[in-house]
Amino acid sequence: MSLKVLKFGGSSLADANQFKKVAEIIKSEPERRYIVASAPGKRKSGDTKVTDLLYKCYELAANEEDITEVFNEIKSRYTDIIRDLKIDLDLNDIFEKIQMSMLHNSGRDYIASRGEYINGLILAKYLGFNFIDAKKVIFFNEDGTFNSEKTNDVLSEYLSRHQYAVIPGFYGSMPNGTIKTFTRGGSDITGSIVARAARATVYENWTDVSGFLMADPRCISNPKVIDTITYKELRELSYMGATVLHEDAIFPVRYSKIPINIKNTNKPSDRGTFIVPETDEISDTVITGIAGKTGFSTINIEKDMMNAELGFGRRVLQVIEENNLSFEHFPSGIDTMSVIVPTKELHNKRADITAGICKAVDPENIFVEENLALIAIVGRGMIKAKGTAARIFTALANSGVNIRMIDQGSSELNIIVGVDSNDYITALKAIYNEFVK
Ligand code: ASP
Repeated sequence: MSLKVLKFGGSSLADANQFKKVAEIIKSEPERRYIVASAPGKRKSGDTKVTDLLYKCYELAANEEDITEVFNEIKSRYTDIIRDLKIDLDLNDIFEKIQMSMLHNSGRDYIASRGEYINGLILAKYLGFNFIDAKKVIFFNEDGTFNSEKTNDVLSEYLSRHQYAVIPGFYGSMPNGTIKTFTRGGSDITGSIVARAARATVYENWTDVSGFLMADPRCISNPKVIDTITYKELRELSYMGATVLHEDAIFPVRYSKIPINIKNTNKPSDRGTFIVPETDEISDTVITGIAGKTGFSTINIEKDMMNAELGFGRRVLQVIEENNLSFEHFPSGIDTMSVIVPTKELHNKRADITAGICKAVDPENIFVEENLALIAIVGRGMIKAKGTAARIFTALANSGVNIRMIDQGSSELNIIVGVDSNDYITALKAIYNEFVK
């Protein structure tokens, strides 16, 4: 039998009007049984998310400043919703407890988590569903990592006792019972955890866009929505900066091969994007999406007969590791090798790293180049389509963009090109237009 887990993001639960849309979506299908709620997000641009207000209160209290104004703003976000939905729910005791804990400098995570906790209570009341406090079913280990197996056992058992329930997103509990949150946007992870425990047929992630876009709309106007994307492709695109879903949200559902459907609360009949374990369906654009980031530097190392020197690459990378820096790519030639790292992180380690590499491998030349942007062109269709790389390079050449680095993953799922940061937008547009327009 079909069973759906739905997660609604902050913009979907920002005010009573959005709550009404959400309830209509849930009630339209009886298999929509488990709902994960975020805290109220922005109602319009310039507005502040409740989670941010909670963090602000925490900071004010920690600095012994007055929290009254910000706390009242938080309270009125919820009391407005309750009033407009005409539900009978008294939150006074809860507000008092939270205010007290702020004044007593209780944990930052506890305070931040109250945004989803209260929104979950309101949604459960409005829908007539049970409320399951995430602290009873989502667990972290002593070292702060997520305890997936204990969570899955306890949560499955809880869900089996409730046919319909609301679970607040974003937090769980530590072994000593204190509250811990995931990183920002973490309700996506809760949704995925609940989908796994419920053995859902699909995890619907409801937000304010009709799916995952093929490119960043700040760089490409009106990019197409991706119909279907595999978990692996999504990882590649998210890693390179594309956001809609928290990047850790894939892991729990990946385990049980549950598809994720990104849907738009404001346009519920749009199909949205399906994120699936695997698919034979190949998009006619060949590529699935493009993403990129600026702000990289290349450490270039040159030495004659480098290729014959055993352990050369290992010694270079060891210096990078000892300086606590993670590298992005590692392209090499016959007598040259480059290590690509984020410029911001290299900044104050540059002298140590250069000296370390000189000592480790005694190069003839070593120099750092900045202003590199990386663009990942991702698509499962590339394995079968001949000439994809040629099309990318021709499009870039025709737009006057010089390619500074090329890297094709062994999975043939992506081609990464490095270009000068000044050419970043031109390069994105050239590639998008070549494949999509
Ligand atoms: N409310 C939290 C945040 O703003 C978690 C979430 O919405 O997923 O990051």
